[in-house]
Amino acid sequence: MKYSQLFCPTLKEAPQGAEVASHKLMLRAGMIRQVAAGIYDMLPVGLRVLRKVENIIREEMNHAGAQEVLLPMVQPAELWKETGRWEGNGKELLRFKDRHERDFCLGPTHEEIITDLVRREVKSYKQLPVVLYQIQTKFRDEVRPRFGLMRGREFIMKDCYSFDATQEGLDKNYKAMSQAYHNIFKRCGLKFRSVEADSGNIGGSASEEFMVLADTGEDFIIHCPNCNYAANIEKAVNKAGTKPIQENDACAKCEPGKLQIVKGIEVGHIFKLGTKYSESMGAKFLDSDGKQKEMIMGCYGIGAGRTAAAAIEQNFDDRGIIFPPALAPFDAVIVIAKMRDENIVKAGFELYEKMKSAGIDVLLDDRDASFGAKAADADLIGVPVRV
Ligand code: ATP
Ligand code: MG
Repeated sequence: MKYSQLFCPTLKEAPQGAEVASHKLMLRAGMIRQVAAGIYDMLPVGLRVLRKVENIIREEMNHAGAQEVLLPMVQPAELWKETGRWEGNGKELLRFKDRHERDFCLGPTHEEIITDLVRREVKSYKQLPVVLYQIQTKFRDEVRPRFGLMRGREFIMKDCYSFDATQEGLDKNYKAMSQAYHNIFKRCGLKFRSVEADSGNIGGSASEEFMVLADTGEDFIIHCPNCNYAANIEKAVNKAGTKPIQENDACAKCEPGKLQIVKGIEVGHIFKLGTKYSESMGAKFLDSDGKQKEMIMGCYGIGAGRTAAAAIEQNFDDRGIIFPPALAPFDAVIVIAKMRDENIVKAGFELYEKMKSAGIDVLLDDRDASFGAKAADADLIGVPVRV
């Protein structure tokens, strides 16, 4: 890619209203632009990074045996009425009517849609397990959209759902997903912890959150550097009851005084759902013993945009983003220091062709601008290798 043709409007200063580093830097690096509160354009450089995240997720999901689908973003109210979530959900669910006055919503999540699909197609234990995922736009009318892609109203999520005949089947899928999530965030180059979480009102029996450690995180994690204990503070508080959290309550295995509280950004969340949705929606199968049973479900989400933002939150300096190589928009950038010098220009173009044919995704800065301005942009957008 030649920079002279790249649509990458960089800015010297972050526009007002951007509070956290990732939001400021994504705006300054010409990756995103705001359209309305919590709603963004993804520009070419931003989209390149998002696609890197998505592809890592896709590879690991496929590797774990999940199959990709694409479900509708516009969802009929009838399905949400079956689970009681049409009434149960507040204003976060964006509702509207079509031309026939039928009620619809924009999907904030897809349990209803996927359970409806699977109940129609799966009749026997022989067809189970089924594990399906998608990478798709969600809409949640968040009260306080903020921090750019970190908490948008419209955002890209990978959501995966498993359907099993047995509890052991669910346990196995849940474990495979947990492993896939560890692989994904490791490949993204992130410092993260997986923590026991409160499954809240989803009503599952187990749940694990994947937290990227960053001071701008909105969640608190309690963790013991000695042992593997880590938990979302909500869960630790629930366990400790009304008493203030004491080391021994939360982390029984270790000596007191070892626990630390750190902030984290929730980038992924996995749940054992059990039969909550299959019960309310009648997603049943005929088991080997001849009995009709409800399918046992799990659900597994990752925020793709939030993961990209979290990566920036962990990797930047005063000159710009320092992308982990796996997420960088380009592998390398060649800055032609002096466009007026024929020899330098020629050397730059030759190297560009060579690197391209070696399969390197390289950006050639051939703009008629000062070396200082070009170097500043290379620093800003965080390309790992610079020539
Ligand atoms: P939060 O507690 O941060 O609001 P959540 O628990 O409601 O998130 P989930 O329903 O677990 O989110 O969604 C799965 C993943 O989708 C989250 O782990 C997060 O990475 C991402 N996500 C959720 N809400 C948003 C949002 N408003 N903007 C960007 N990503 C989001
Ligand atoms: Mg969550």
